[in-house]
Amino acid sequence: MADERKVENPFRVLPAPPASAPATVSGAAGEREAIREEVERGVLFTNAGAMVNWAVNQSRVNAIWPLGFGLACCAIEMMAIVGPRFDISRFGAEVFRASPRQADLMIVAGRVSIKMAPVLRQLYDQMPDPKWVISMGACASCGGVFNNYAILQGVDKIVPVDVYVPGCPPRPEALIHGIMKLQEKILKSPVEVGTLTFYPKQPAKRASGSKKKGAA
Ligand code: SF4
Repeated sequence: MADERKVENPFRVLPAPPASAPATVSGAAGEREAIREEVERGVLFTNAGAMVNWAVNQSRVNAIWPLGFGLACCAIEMMAIVGPRFDISRFGAEVFRASPRQADLMIVAGRVSIKMAPVLRQLYDQMPDPKWVISMGACASCGGVFNNYAILQGVDKIVPVDVYVPGCPPRPEALIHGIMKLQEKILKSPVEVGTLTFYPKQPAKRASGSKKKGAA
């Protein structure tokens, strides 16, 4: 038996047909609806600014180069993401750089001692814009079990943090999840080129007739 369920086209940008139109693809109205569906699947509606934003952000999220920088036991889990078992190269983030001047991402993997804090800040300052920071593990995020005068109680006291990955230590999968969250964040961010700023395309508003059943 043929499946008669109608799948809503997520790319619909043209007004929906009137409710009086026949549900099946037959007759003149059905033919028009079929043509409309084909056009909407084959044509991309956007604007130049959103297209520039999409192209630049796509290239950024698929080539996040981390700084080769580890502070404690969490760094062992960080190193594991590069190996064949976890294979971070699937996300284009396997190119650990020895120089901060070639890195986009600082993964703070381990507790930050007060003595190390100015060094970490200098490495961050040497990274070119745009740059991002992932705080990996309890120690980097809040000091963890080291609630004492020698350990910084949260790396966000000296650098802006984009994503926090909880755990002691977080599993490599958790760090990969953190990198994926960072990718989502980058895709939603505006792109600055000279004096121009390009914003991402806003999601299309849902048609008023598509309210959930029972909604007021
Ligand atoms: S969070 Fe746990 S595994 Fe990571 S540096 Fe601290 S003590 Fe080590």
